Amino acid sequence: MIEAQNLTRQFPGGTVALEGIKLVIPDGQFVSLVGPSGCGKSTLLSLLAGLDKPSAGTVAGVKRPGVVFQEAALYPWKTVLQNVCFGLELRGLPRAECQAQAEAALRTVHLARFAKAYPHELSGGMRQRAAIARALVLEPDALFLDEPFGALDAQTRALLQIELLTLWERTKLSVVFVTHSLEEAVALSDRVILMASRPGRIIADVLIDAPRPRDLRRDLTLAAIQDRLFAQLSEEVARVAAQEYDTDWNMKTPLVREGEEAGSGI
Ligand code: ADP
Repeated sequence: MIEAQNLTRQFPGGTVALEGIKLVIPDGQFVSLVGPSGCGKSTLLSLLAGLDKPSAGTVAGVKRPGVVFQEAALYPWKTVLQNVCFGLELRGLPRAECQAQAEAALRTVHLARFAKAYPHELSGGMRQRAAIARALVLEPDALFLDEPFGALDAQTRALLQIELLTLWERTKLSVVFVTHSLEEAVALSDRVILMASRPGRIIADVLIDAPRPRDLRRDLTLAAIQDRLFAQLSEEVARVAAQEYDTDWNMKTPLVREGEEAGSGI
């Protein structure tokens, strides 16, 4: 169980990125954090994973976080296998042992064939799979993914979503998944947490108890959940925009939902 109590994170300079966050994630739950840019999703993920320290409050329950970011950040001079091995080598494991475990992790993400390739020889989706293997090989007790598919084309993204779900179902790890896509969050997660900014806080926390794979276009219950969250998100985006634009501005056109044409409205 991951447990955050009264988390506040204030950055030097004064920005209060998060205030009074309380969040308990049971073991094995797949949780998405959604919200407008700047609402504190990445900050919350970093705090939960222990990569950053809160200004106040506590986080407990994670000993070995596995972390994947939007950009895979692989070492360009190392092969895929060497990249995946590296964390184990730092732990002082013998080289042969590292290689065997790294190869197994690459097989898990179906990338074993490219073990000897260099990052520049891989597509974006393959690089993200390598990054997932690099996280998995360290036997994490929870996975933290910060917009991991944000830079991928729609088809690759759909493939990696399926791969992540398969991996999650097999490993039973808790997953904290940051995305700006409500559709992605509702399609994948057990629970969607909607955040608002200034200060970053949780404004909705919705359990999604529906079988997977999910078809958001056909499942009316899921569509209704997505609609409700979308309305809340739109309100929040408009509120933030009102603070960022001149006072003569108002939102004339409704926000466009993913997959819809501009102008077709909410
Ligand atoms: P999100 O992931 O939702 O886009 P972030 O967690 O990245 O939001 O950022 C939340 C707020 O904290 C933003 O206003 C951002 O500018 C600010 N912030 C994030 N990291 C830092 C930092 N290292 N120093 C100062 N301000 C930061």
